[in-house]
Amino acid sequence: MLKHYLNILLFILNCSVSFYLFKESNFFYYALAISIFIFVVILSCGVLFLKFNYFLTATTSLKNGYCLLTFDDGPDPIYTPQILKVLREENIKALFFIIGKKALENPALVKQIQAEGHLIGNHTFNHNIFLSLLPKKQILKEIHEGDEAIQSIINQSTMYFRPPIGYTNPNYARVLKKLNLNTIGWSLRSYDTVYKQESKLIHRLINAIKKNDIVLFHDNLEITNNILPTFIRLAKEKDIIFVPLSYNENVFND
Ligand SMILES: [Zn+2]
Repeated sequence: MLKHYLNILLFILNCSVSFYLFKESNFFYYALAISIFIFVVILSCGVLFLKFNYFLTATTSLKNGYCLLTFDDGPDPIYTPQILKVLREENIKALFFIIGKKALENPALVKQIQAEGHLIGNHTFNHNIFLSLLPKKQILKEIHEGDEAIQSIINQSTMYFRPPIGYTNPNYARVLKKLNLNTIGWSLRSYDTVYKQESKLIHRLINAIKKNDIVLFHDNLEITNNILPTFIRLAKEKDIIFVPLSYNENVFND
């Protein structure tokens, strides 16, 4: 929240200086408009981009030289099993950010993800993309119900959280601090929800990937499932090493 408070302070300072310097001139209104513009731009970046660590501190890369694959919005009855098969064959540990509602619909898949050595994170219960606009009580409810759904299946709570579409606000920061959850962002967004051509998506990812990256995929998409084996093979040729299945739980701490 420090960056948010600094932005507020900067805004107050800009307004005060503008008033002091230009109070008797029309230029005051221009100076005021510029101050508001700067405040809103910084605030918007803070809401939209987790990696700015504006309201809260999110982990957006690793420190151990490995790359971590993360899969959001599952479990999906069609694609999650196929993605798990690829990860099993390639001996790669991934982190699945699960939607509570889908977890309750596909409990066997949640158990399989855990049994095969992957990490599980909370991605809220309903994945409401407007959650960051709702009050603190609603955010707490969504995260709590997401956790309850996961707990009811694997008998343990998760310590990882990723907000739907990555937007945050001061309420999120307060709730996540209260729940003592680690917010995990990403350093490489695949845009698998946007790309239609598999070759273009692979090309973009292989050009961009580097060690310590946390890669954001979705395990409910056909294109992600289709490109995954080729993406892993080409990344390995680029000397990228993915977190192995046998790696301990603390992939973020080393
Ligand atoms: Zn999502």
